[in-house]
Amino acid sequence: MKDIIIGIDLGTTNSEVSVVEQGKVTIIKEGDKKMLPSFVGIDDAGQVIVGETARNQYLVYPERTIKSIKRLMGQDTQVVLADQAYTPQEISAIILTRLKGIAEQYLGQAVSKAVITVPAYFSDAQRQATREAGEIAGLEVMRMINEPTAAALAYGTEQAEAKQVLVYDLGGGTFDVSVVNMQDGVVEVLSSHGDNHLGGDDFDQQIIEYLIEHIQETHNVDVRQHSKAMARLTRAAEEAKFLLSDQPYAQINEEYLLEHDGAAVHLSLELSRIAYEDMIEDYINATIDATHIALKGAKLTASDIDEVILVGGSTRTPCIRERLLNEFGFEPHSEVDPDLCVAMGAAIQAAMISGQEVDTVLVDVTPYTYGTSAIGVLDGQPYPFMFVPIIHKNSVLPNRKTEAFLTSYDNQDTVEIIIYQGEDPDALNNVKIGEFLVEGLLEVPRGNVITLTLGLDLNGILNVSAVEKETGLEKSITIKNALSQFEGESLDTAKQRITSLFGQMDPRIIEEEPSTVSDTPEITAARELITKAEGLFEKISAEDKEDMVDLIETMTGCIEAQDIEGLDKSSAQLTDIIYYLES
Ligand code: AMP
Repeated sequence: MKDIIIGIDLGTTNSEVSVVEQGKVTIIKEGDKKMLPSFVGIDDAGQVIVGETARNQYLVYPERTIKSIKRLMGQDTQVVLADQAYTPQEISAIILTRLKGIAEQYLGQAVSKAVITVPAYFSDAQRQATREAGEIAGLEVMRMINEPTAAALAYGTEQAEAKQVLVYDLGGGTFDVSVVNMQDGVVEVLSSHGDNHLGGDDFDQQIIEYLIEHIQETHNVDVRQHSKAMARLTRAAEEAKFLLSDQPYAQINEEYLLEHDGAAVHLSLELSRIAYEDMIEDYINATIDATHIALKGAKLTASDIDEVILVGGSTRTPCIRERLLNEFGFEPHSEVDPDLCVAMGAAIQAAMISGQEVDTVLVDVTPYTYGTSAIGVLDGQPYPFMFVPIIHKNSVLPNRKTEAFLTSYDNQDTVEIIIYQGEDPDALNNVKIGEFLVEGLLEVPRGNVITLTLGLDLNGILNVSAVEKETGLEKSITIKNALSQFEGESLDTAKQRITSLFGQMDPRIIEEEPSTVSDTPEITAARELITKAEGLFEKISAEDKEDMVDLIETMTGCIEAQDIEGLDKSSAQLTDIIYYLES
């Protein structure tokens, strides 16, 4: 039987094993799990436990459990596990032995060779320790490759032209950013930077602190003194974090968390994505600073980078994608599962060593961005049709994302939802693919929360639903062929069609029109002024027209935002121009 070389991503938080079979990369599952938590422990019966079970016992019996052993690799140190001392290599070898076993069970044959990935910053001593861990586990380490190299391999190696790729890798406990050069299947790491103590665990910790504080305030109990309750909070915090990657709010409910003064303490709390993003902002800033240091190390700037690849589970956090989009000006790639792409790259490297052909790792992704429009700021001006992306281009299908929106004026009982496909920050330059009204909303001050969920399946069916958060009032529509609708038809034609549609209708009144309900005298006067100004467009210079259009846009934004002070100011300026032109 031919020797098989497996690929292993030996991670700080999770590890995975993979193999190439008939040209296809497979992540080998244990049960239904593709990831093995990198935890090792000794259970009540004195047996070694690895993975999920060890992770579960960590919070309750930390003295019998080891986590994040990768951080100690290469150090002349020992860890104590149930009164026995072990080297980091030995603990890592326990994880590798388990991964080897998972692969052998799946393949039905013994496995003795592996490619193992290591961080680009690993020193010789750390690499040597990893090799030794492999040997202890009965694995000949055929090659050790850098994690960013593996990630880049998972995204394909075919192109002949040189490409500069930035690999942003944010896992549970570590952050690494590398600039790599790819050409003809050869991947070279140009520079690397990062933080060995920054990752999703820190994000969880922020939520945990918030929950501890909340319980202290509402029940006057210090949860830190209750290890089982802390274990539950830790789990709940991570689950809330997962939810917030896909939706704007997460409800955290932990009943009978603990007993205090003879009474049960229940936790019930809503956490918003905005509040959560605030908690982790400093960490994200630190990763962006590190990204610039890595670019500098490679003597490049953001504009030299052709692609950004997202690696590590924590990159599912939406504000990370947004920050990188802002920095580089294009969408980062995450089509290959960010948790698994390093392991996939390891298997691809293993297949290359054994002379096997490898197909590219193809996944179904959406070629377009889908979203809606809202009042916002565009080019520094208030604008009522700012495009708000909800499902981003290149997202893996099926996909479902929720965002929250607020009503824009008091007693607004109707909202019009318009769905667009495209990339332009101005929604009117994108393609409108559906619209509907949600009527009968609560008559409350502006700021009533409406959540909008977009669910896109593999067949291109887009389900859109809007829910008034307070009451659960829901309205939904289905848009068929959302993926293929405009493939055959040029986007320009579609745009023209939509633009001409708007030509017949003032786009400013497509949004729910507050003026019919609540026009103040200032707003009525401003509207008359706008009509008057537009009447002059034919007769004036392009320069004057441009000034007036800018002012009209500002005024429209002020009207939408009911900003009377701003409206007065811009109205006065427009009056001055009209006066000057007419005199
Ligand atoms: P890794 O070390 O690459 O396996 O990444 C593990 C980290 O990713 C952990 O901190 C997880 O909590 C985090 N993570 C996994 N899925 C998500 C998600 N959907 N949103 C935010 N963080 C996630």
